[in-house]
Amino acid sequence: MASSTQTLEVPIAGMDCTECTLHVQHAIAALPGVDQVDVFLASEKAIVRFDPAQVDLLAISDAVKGAGYRVPDRTLPPDRSSALQRGYSRQVLTLFGVVFFAVLFIVVIGEGLGVFARLTELIPWPIWSIVIVAAGLPIFRNVIRATLHRQVISHTLMTLGMLAAVAVGEWATAAIVVFFMRVGDYAERFTTERARRAVKDLTALAPQTARLEENGVEHEVPIGQVQPGDVIIVRPGEKIPVDGEVIDGQATIDQATITGESLPVEAGPGVHVYAATFARLGSLRLRTIHVGSDTTFGRVIKLVEEAEAQRADVQRVADKFSAYYLPVVAGIAALTFLISRDPLATCAVLVVACSCSFALATPIAMLASIGAAAKHGLLIKGGKYLEALAQADVLLIDKTGTLTLGQPQIVDQVAYGISLADLLQLAASVERYSEHPLAQAVRAAAQAQNIPLLEPHDFEALPGLGVRARINGSVITVGNRRFIGQADTLSVLPDIERLEAQGQTLLYVTKDGQLNGVLAAADTLRPEVPAAIEALRSLGLHHIELLTGDNERTAATLAQQIGVSYRANLLPENKIAIVKEYQAQGHVVIMVGDGVNDAPALAQANIGLAMGAAGSDVAIEAAHIALLRDDWTLVPRVLQIARRTMRVVKSNLGFTIGYNAIGLTLAALGYLPPVLAAAAQSLPDIGILANSSRLIRQK
Ligand code: ADP
Ligand code: MG
Repeated sequence: MASSTQTLEVPIAGMDCTECTLHVQHAIAALPGVDQVDVFLASEKAIVRFDPAQVDLLAISDAVKGAGYRVPDRTLPPDRSSALQRGYSRQVLTLFGVVFFAVLFIVVIGEGLGVFARLTELIPWPIWSIVIVAAGLPIFRNVIRATLHRQVISHTLMTLGMLAAVAVGEWATAAIVVFFMRVGDYAERFTTERARRAVKDLTALAPQTARLEENGVEHEVPIGQVQPGDVIIVRPGEKIPVDGEVIDGQATIDQATITGESLPVEAGPGVHVYAATFARLGSLRLRTIHVGSDTTFGRVIKLVEEAEAQRADVQRVADKFSAYYLPVVAGIAALTFLISRDPLATCAVLVVACSCSFALATPIAMLASIGAAAKHGLLIKGGKYLEALAQADVLLIDKTGTLTLGQPQIVDQVAYGISLADLLQLAASVERYSEHPLAQAVRAAAQAQNIPLLEPHDFEALPGLGVRARINGSVITVGNRRFIGQADTLSVLPDIERLEAQGQTLLYVTKDGQLNGVLAAADTLRPEVPAAIEALRSLGLHHIELLTGDNERTAATLAQQIGVSYRANLLPENKIAIVKEYQAQGHVVIMVGDGVNDAPALAQANIGLAMGAAGSDVAIEAAHIALLRDDWTLVPRVLQIARRTMRVVKSNLGFTIGYNAIGLTLAALGYLPPVLAAAAQSLPDIGILANSSRLIRQK
């Protein structure tokens, strides 16, 4: 039976920790007919692929509820007054609780130091039970729910620890343990919330409304009502609401939201502008091309939100480790009790090492880095790629559009048997519908001489080779030497050698298999490349190679300018093969390209890095890391970000492991009173947050 699947994005409320995402994940995955679930902590949603014949949103929502979380109904406005009231009464309760526990804490410490007698013994046990249940209610609810689902969560062990204290009549200890369990929860929620902010700040920049022009009247509408093709007005100082093409008007545009660069760009008729950028000085009329999630900005947000799904290996290991961790702690607690018969030491063991901090150590750092990078025009699709980048040792570079500006110019031409004007006309007509930078150069050359274009028939573009079409009944090709194959170039060899020696890209034009002429295109090296390559070398990337579909001499000239090795005359599939060859030798490969003819190689590389991805769908889709601005200085920068992030991840993990190991040892040996153990367990999260915050601020 053929079954169709559907993919749905389900918002989820109430997830405060990484452990929570696992609960939601398990709950949804357990439903029949659910194929795949990804749960995102930062964007508070799940993406579920399921068979609509077997489950629906209601069933998913019930499963989420069963696990202790909610699917908020976004269509209903939240009931503000009751929410406010609840907020108010909660504040009063919290204040009450804090005062109570502060006094209690002072009393317990005072007793410990012998300053006053055992005051806490004066309080009868029913009062203690009420305090404990009231303070620990949300925790106990989670524990009961998890137990019903046959899951052991960190709160389960802590609750056992608290019960151990109750069992020996240490009511004050039990109460304080509960208090610190709550403090630990808050610490974790705060940490998660902070890490989320980088992503949320980005989402907040998405345009909400647009000035739509309809029948000559302009009115403001929610962005959801705008369709591709609609005419939009943008006034000075306003945010551009869509990706579109300027129809008329002139403005200076600040594209910092997308490219991270505040250098203003001039926009006039014909220019493409992007949603979420700002028009300063001047108004524009635009024709809408993309709206909402189809815009470059929309895609960036979506990819950043979903970057969590591409988890780094360290995180997989940490997750696996957390799964074994709780049973191990329970085991240590059992041993402690068997050997020392000391219920308080047992309680301390159960309480001290049970924070979620292992699980937090990696994602917090990754979220911070990915969010901060996105603000600077660097789209990183997941922690996995930062991890790979930090280990990369081979850098492969595509030439046209990547290393060069990608705006080649025809600088020389030779015709055989026809006039130069006819040669240009044929070539430009074949290139009429090609998007390759070389095609643009040919068209520009024809336009400069006011040569009209003819209509090509049966147009065909052969990646890495050239283009072919029929014009006035003859088959015309424009492409490299490999493409023209059998056509005889012997007689014109001196011309070819002269042009190639100047490092130019030669385009051979044939008509019905006869060579009719050669166009020489010159492209300029991006000015910042040599310094960037130098920086990459000093970062330890010693193997750098230029891969190009262009001819040997052009490649050699360019490679020499930046001091790297090269391979020329490559087809897109040869580029993939080279990437694979390096990978087979155990290298971690970065491939830098522009998405034109090299998308498959970008996808094959461990890290596919696309230049100038703003507005290029292919580049954004194919790459793992996309630079939204054409700037090579970002390449060494992103490598540095990756290394810093991995350093922070490792120090986070080292810190948590060390901290918990010491805590566990002290507790098991009876040196750590349960009260201190409880206080200690709430600290690692804050440590991790503080450590990872350095990544949020990085430039
Ligand atoms: P690179 O590997 O340098 O990025 P491409 O793979 O895009 O270059 O193209 C390789 C070669 O194929 C070009 O140098 C050119 O000779 C030829 N070629 C590709 N597309 C075209 C085209 N539209 N017109 C003419 N030649 C083309
Ligand atoms: Mg290219």
